[in-house]
Amino acid sequence: MDYNKLLENIHQAILPYAQEGKAADYIPELAKVDPDQFGMCIHTIYGEVGAIEQADTRFSIQSISKVFALAMCLSIEGDNLWKKVGKEPSGTAFNSLVQLEVEHGIPRNPFINAGAIVMADILYSHLEHPHEDFLRFVHEISGEESICYNKQVALSEREKGYLNAAIANLLKYHGTIENDIEDVLHFYFMMCSIEMSCRELSKAFLVFANHRKKFDYAGITLTSSQVKRMNAIMQTCGFYDEAGEFSYLVGLPGKSGVGGGIVAIYPLQYAVAVWSPRLNSRGNSVMGIKALELLTTETQSSIF
Ligand code: GLN
Repeated sequence: MDYNKLLENIHQAILPYAQEGKAADYIPELAKVDPDQFGMCIHTIYGEVGAIEQADTRFSIQSISKVFALAMCLSIEGDNLWKKVGKEPSGTAFNSLVQLEVEHGIPRNPFINAGAIVMADILYSHLEHPHEDFLRFVHEISGEESICYNKQVALSEREKGYLNAAIANLLKYHGTIENDIEDVLHFYFMMCSIEMSCRELSKAFLVFANHRKKFDYAGITLTSSQVKRMNAIMQTCGFYDEAGEFSYLVGLPGKSGVGGGIVAIYPLQYAVAVWSPRLNSRGNSVMGIKALELLTTETQSSIF
């Protein structure tokens, strides 16, 4: 299959939506990004690649980093992880506080902010050098050593991160996190600030698509069954209160971030990343969802 052609056709078809939505501006540094950018890249497990437009431009991966954090936490904690965080879809916004209070400080799933802050705490406790070790894991699964944090983005998010600070305080009150709140939040914001391109993201996520291959990167090991279960969580929780809609439209496990990136995988077939900063009201990329909807429709390759 000519993947470049396929992606180009998809891009042409979704151009009418190019001005829909609004880039995230609650993180001041993200408001500086040109919202009219678009990139897309697909990697198949057979080594085929398709890449168009700004597939090589790095952007803030934000919540997509939660998938990397989950891989590390599952490797470290195994099933004990599920004592501190659930695995049910939340049906609420990524930064919602409501359920967390009602459910006594146990986040619904690892992909809402509360769940990811708990994972940041776990990694902070278990890793010798949390910041370096997390980045090394990302380097190994993507095969790209130059990927790094954007400290400016992380600091700018901390400055305005009132909701995440409230979440961290609630978690601390309930005893779900053990480290100092500032240390945990700083690490969480740093993870979110990592910058990667669509090419790098789709290559990195191929390891989750290809669950039959041994998962062993930077000392982080997962069984095939654990990788499959990560995909299950991406399917049910990857898009917050739009997880059902994404499942309906696209039909693949995936994860979005407020930087405008979305990564999706078709198990044992491919991983695809798309980036366009304009978001819908749920914080997911408008063009990103459209592109993936067309991809799975054109290639008849959703998991359903
Ligand atoms: N860093 C962002 C936040 O905590 C991540 C949210 C997202 O990408 N959905 O608000």
